[in-house]
Amino acid sequence: VIRLNDVSQTYKVRKRGSFGAVDSLRAVRNVTFDVRRGDSFAVVGESGCGKSTLMRLLSRLEKPAGGEVLCEGRDIAKLSGSELLAFRRKLQLVLQDPFGSLPPRTAIGAMLEAPLRTHGWRDPKKIREKVRDVMNDVGLPVALYDELPLGLSAGQRQRVNVARAMVLDPEILLMDETLSALDQTEQFRLLALFDKLQREHALTYIFISHDLAMVRKACNRIAVMYLGEVVELADNERLFFDPGHPYTRALLSAMP
Ligand code: ATP
Ligand code: MG
Repeated sequence: VIRLNDVSQTYKVRKRGSFGAVDSLRAVRNVTFDVRRGDSFAVVGESGCGKSTLMRLLSRLEKPAGGEVLCEGRDIAKLSGSELLAFRRKLQLVLQDPFGSLPPRTAIGAMLEAPLRTHGWRDPKKIREKVRDVMNDVGLPVALYDELPLGLSAGQRQRVNVARAMVLDPEILLMDETLSALDQTEQFRLLALFDKLQREHALTYIFISHDLAMVRKACNRIAVMYLGEVVELADNERLFFDPGHPYTRALLSAMP
């Protein structure tokens, strides 16, 4: 469904110690891989290796400085307005912290209705029905519809976050450290939920994560990033039993 073709991204950064001079930093270097329909694909690597940059490129929050990101064969940098809207419906982002640092003043139901309205839904009854269905799907009690998110547990907040991505019936969920802040039990519950959603909705997942234990449990294909490059791409079993790249071996040996 998604293919990266020799993708690079460069940022301008201020040169150390020299006033006003600008350097360029290659956060992502010549990355090529494809994510297949039904994959639970993982991108792993240490802090600063370019994972979030890759996430922004995959979701067209940024356009690459070089190469192309193809969705169903089309370069997503070249989509027209309506095609881009369709792409944004098809690929949904689930970020780590659903509500950021803002004091949450919006009821759960209204929060889940918002993306539907943005995408042109008008009938209040249909909107409400859809939101109830999705809340059911992700295991949120419908009684929370009119509640503020203040009293939710970390796991429930993350369910709201997933529900917000699910209301538009996406094909691809792109998750940047979605499970990282949760304890083991909550992670386990959410992984079970992802598994169920994948079977019921034919979803493709892309997990961006530094948590190898989680990835080992949940993902079938794994790309290992190091200093902006993908140094290894392998099936779960190959990667964990017979890692090919020295960096992968180092990463695995640091696993608990
Ligand atoms: P983490 O695991 O800590 O989230 P990451 O793998 O997601 O790290 P990125 O956030 O993609 O890493 O950053 C990759 C590199 O690009 C880092 O050196 C970072 O400082 C740099 N970088 C990222 N975004 C920008 C930006 N907007 N402007 C300048 N430099 C950036
Ligand atoms: Mg990141």
